[in-house]
Amino acid sequence: MKEKYNYINLKKYKLNLKWTLPIIIIIFILSFFGFKYIKTITYKNIYKTIAELSKQTATQLNLSIQEHEKFVETVVDSINKGYCTTEYEIFDNFANELSDYHLTRLAILDRNGNGITSDGYKVTDYPVTDEFFNFDEVYLSENRKSIISNDQVNIYAKAFYLNGQERVLFAAVDTKDYKEILLRRLYNGLGGTYLINNDGTILIDSFNAVQKTNINLYDYIVDKYDVTDDKKLITINDMKENIKNKNIGTFDITLKGDTYFAHYENVGINDWYVISIVPASAMANELNQFITITLCVGIFINLVIVSICVYIDLSNQMKSRKLYKIAYVDSVTLLGNENYFKEYSKQYLDSLEGNKYIIIIDINKFKALNSLYGYEFCNNILSTFGEKIEQEMPKSTIVCRMYSDVFAIALAYDKNIKQIVEKIHNTATSINIDNIMLHLNVSIGVYKIKKSDTDINKMLDKAYIARQQIKGTYGSYYYMFDKNLEDLLIKEENIEASMEKAIKNKEFKVVYQPKFSTKNEKVLGAESLVRWYKDGKLIMPNDFIPLFEKNKFILKLDMYIFEQVCKDLAYWKEKFNANLRVSVNVSKEHFVNENFIEKYVKIADMYKVDRKNIELEITESATIDKNIDLLKIVNKIKSYGFSISLDDFGTGYSSLAMLQELPIDVIKIDKIFVDKADLNSDQNMINYMVLIAKKLGTEIVVEGVETKEQADFIKTLDCDMIQGYYYSKPIEEPEMEKYLTF
Ligand code: C2E
Ligand code: CA
Ligand code: CA
Repeated sequence: MKEKYNYINLKKYKLNLKWTLPIIIIIFILSFFGFKYIKTITYKNIYKTIAELSKQTATQLNLSIQEHEKFVETVVDSINKGYCTTEYEIFDNFANELSDYHLTRLAILDRNGNGITSDGYKVTDYPVTDEFFNFDEVYLSENRKSIISNDQVNIYAKAFYLNGQERVLFAAVDTKDYKEILLRRLYNGLGGTYLINNDGTILIDSFNAVQKTNINLYDYIVDKYDVTDDKKLITINDMKENIKNKNIGTFDITLKGDTYFAHYENVGINDWYVISIVPASAMANELNQFITITLCVGIFINLVIVSICVYIDLSNQMKSRKLYKIAYVDSVTLLGNENYFKEYSKQYLDSLEGNKYIIIIDINKFKALNSLYGYEFCNNILSTFGEKIEQEMPKSTIVCRMYSDVFAIALAYDKNIKQIVEKIHNTATSINIDNIMLHLNVSIGVYKIKKSDTDINKMLDKAYIARQQIKGTYGSYYYMFDKNLEDLLIKEENIEASMEKAIKNKEFKVVYQPKFSTKNEKVLGAESLVRWYKDGKLIMPNDFIPLFEKNKFILKLDMYIFEQVCKDLAYWKEKFNANLRVSVNVSKEHFVNENFIEKYVKIADMYKVDRKNIELEITESATIDKNIDLLKIVNKIKSYGFSISLDDFGTGYSSLAMLQELPIDVIKIDKIFVDKADLNSDQNMINYMVLIAKKLGTEIVVEGVETKEQADFIKTLDCDMIQGYYYSKPIEEPEMEKYLTF
């Protein structure tokens, strides 16, 4: 069956963002830092690799240069030692070694740049500077034009004296050879190395990117990539400074969207630097690995945590949904229950415009249906009825099942509410279950909510009270809470507010109505009845007893009246030695707890009253109340020696079998049978009732005899006593005394 509580606000499981969101945010923050951490590690690795490669390149270059220097030293050494005395001798001696050292040629020049080369060229005016004429160590030049061609060369130079003449030895290396070293493939040629001098001037560009000579690397980068970003400029500047200060370093920089890793390393010669640069794309492996790891780990952890959150959240919601269902959903009809109605209908109605109503629907004689069709079928009736009512009502009406066969409705309706009531009635009279057409009779109480109403319980009460007005009244099925009921309610509230005080103020008085013998009209007993003088005004029991039964104040009042009666009995015994049997009304509200009898015993004993002079009147209606174990109670009452009378006999539908079981002493035939009796016939109900009572072997009292005719009639029956206005109205204690003196 589908769940019907569509106005109950937990239709769908919804992720509770209140706390899942912060957790997800935290996860993202953690992921971010995790990402950064892994990035740092990856970058560190890349830095290390590139630094390693760069260092290798620098070392190789250094070694190669040192070899050449050593060669030049050796040549100059042999000259200085006088092993060679002419240029030709020198060239001859070392001609073989030129190719071993990858030297293009040797040359010997004077200060003016004039001289000869080892391969036979005559040199004139080759630009030489003072640096070349170094007698102490080998000077290595930056790239310059070859003596004999346009090729770029680097020249090792050392000065010496040949035959007293100042000369310089040149050993030229093709710059391409060094380029070869720098090219030692960085990342399959994707990376490359620049050789720069201390100012940043590019000496060798293994990328072949820089076409012109004498270009400054820093300016070249800034120019080529339009670097304007401060951070990047700082990175470049840092490198510049570091190189100037002969430090080494590694960095990464993103230029025009591509990231580059770079390391600069001192070659150890002329403060030259190699700077190796590898684009990130060349590191695809490392970076991909990094990204894959980050993504996998990140996604996995996030997924796990988010799933845990969602799981916890949903299971919490499920739990609270379950609890909610237990607390607020009626399991039979799947409508809201009484709790739900009381908790939510008020705030719901407040949100609506127009005339608002609370309606109580009570299915009449549902108990009879229960015994006719059985429990399960009747549950089916309730749920079908509930479902149909909900369908028939205007949209977003709250329909709840309050208890057993009672439903409550809260709605706003601006047309005549009678239409709604009729709809309910019509729905009830055409319920179809398993092809059985049921005609349910309902009693509907309607309360129109006032602006001043705040308490849902009070509003419900008023709808209930309205409903009570029709139960049993043939033909009418609804009642609208009106002014009369409002007045009654106010009266009741008034009574409730003053009842406790009334006992203290002795506002409750006992009156006695004597019971006369049908044989000799002597007084054989009396019934005690309560009167309330509220602010000096007499209020009769029918105006407050039902209310006191409802609010249980009757438990207190009955005790109070019983004590007054015991007092009077003790007094009558002492003063008149009278042993009159007095009956006291005991509300069936006491019967929920059989221990109430001990209280009666205690009071009777306190006044030393003979318990057999006390008759406890219980109403016949108590015999049909399923919640009361009347047999047990009556037996207990009897066991203490009290007498028992069954009041209002004939109105309570008790079964004969039940009566036979109960050890009743007196039966009081209700006034209505006297009223209804045709005094000239012996075919009256009262005749049969007397017969029954006699069969049960009890005494019989006939109540409510008002006229001589009635009295005479009763006397023709086999009754024991008459109680009625004809003989005496209820009278106060002093007046009773006249019946006690014989
Ligand atoms: P009840 O127990 O049936 O009491 C008899 C009622 O019938 C009394 O009404 C009595 O005054 C009235 N009555 C007696 N003879 C006649 C008559 O000839 N004509 C008419 N019209 N009425 C007659 P009362 O005193 O107003 O009490 C009404 C009901 O209130 C009682 O009905 C009883 O059920 C209840 N009641 C009264 N006092 C007490 C009490 O102390 N405790 C409890 N629990 N209920 C009480
Ligand atoms: Ca009575
Ligand atoms: Ca009675």
